[in-house]
Amino acid sequence: MVSAEQIPVFDEDAIRQQALLTPPATHLTGARRDAQIVRIKKLLQERDAVLVAHYYVDDDLQMLADETGGCVADSLEMARFGHDHPATTVVVAGVRFMGETAKILNPEKRVLMPTLKAECSLDLSCPVDAFNTFCDAHPERTVVVYANTSAAVKARADWVVTSSIATRVIQHLHERGEKILWAPDRFLGSYVQKVTGADMLLWQGSCIVHDEFKAEELKKLRAKHPQAAVLVHPESPGDVIAQADVVGSTTQIIQAATELDNPTFIVATDKGIFYKMKQAAPGKTFIEAPTGGVGASCGSCAHCPWMAMNGLENLGTTLENLDNEVHIDPDIGQQAMVSLTRMLDFAASENKSAIGEANIASPS
Ligand code: SF4
Repeated sequence: MVSAEQIPVFDEDAIRQQALLTPPATHLTGARRDAQIVRIKKLLQERDAVLVAHYYVDDDLQMLADETGGCVADSLEMARFGHDHPATTVVVAGVRFMGETAKILNPEKRVLMPTLKAECSLDLSCPVDAFNTFCDAHPERTVVVYANTSAAVKARADWVVTSSIATRVIQHLHERGEKILWAPDRFLGSYVQKVTGADMLLWQGSCIVHDEFKAEELKKLRAKHPQAAVLVHPESPGDVIAQADVVGSTTQIIQAATELDNPTFIVATDKGIFYKMKQAAPGKTFIEAPTGGVGASCGSCAHCPWMAMNGLENLGTTLENLDNEVHIDPDIGQQAMVSLTRMLDFAASENKSAIGEANIASPS
């Protein structure tokens, strides 16, 4: 049980162990792959369904989402797209909190996922009971949670933010004199705290994928590629973020690859993003930021084991059987909608999309 007086700690090793034991979906090739693609396209039409996929899932799922009128995006854009699209069923290829976010914003629609077992280490690090205890102990603080949390945690929060808008929301709250309770990602929280100077109490979760990027190895890689720009997702450790030319969300990282003149990019985020980066900036070279070196376990090797649970076969079966439906307690869904809507309204009031602007660092 978490002490109300302390910043919560939890068993990171157990979460890593769970990730290591997660079985990836079978990657299909040849005739089996072709047959599944035909099957899925047909079923999407028959079921009045639209496929929305995250940047980190398998290339074939991203291709299918594009080719069938769905979308490939970050978690917020996935949910918004599903909301705006006329289809009555939204199929979310990603991890559980993404399916839940889609359901919160689209309570009237059926939301399906290829698997309901795809977790996220940030979500797992922040169980709602411990989180409630922590919030109860700090009633003077405004509760801001990252999108990578359960519906129940979102329901407790005052604000939900994505990595693309976190800095602007915290800056806004800081200017209003509010103190922040932040959960669950300690690296993103530290980064935002540093940029804004806000008073932030940080939950101590992390993403097992971004946590593995190594600063010393990155320095060596940069020396080998002096013309490369370094693009870093802010879930990465601070000493990796410190070397970035651009710090940004997945969408912002793709955007940076199209806007910067560099011929080469070293990318510190899940390598699933390369599918879209290569489309967006053809002719440029993309290199994975290193996860090796001293202290590296390379449990993920820059690819999320839970995202890898999404495949053609389980997507086809889900559509066939209409199973793996996401359900949320309606009361929790309504409360979570309030904190999510606050973020969407904030983005709209700034007359910007929630995609926002990446933080372009001074060249180092
Ligand atoms: S990449 Fe990290 S933050 Fe994203 S779903 Fe996987 S564990 Fe969670």
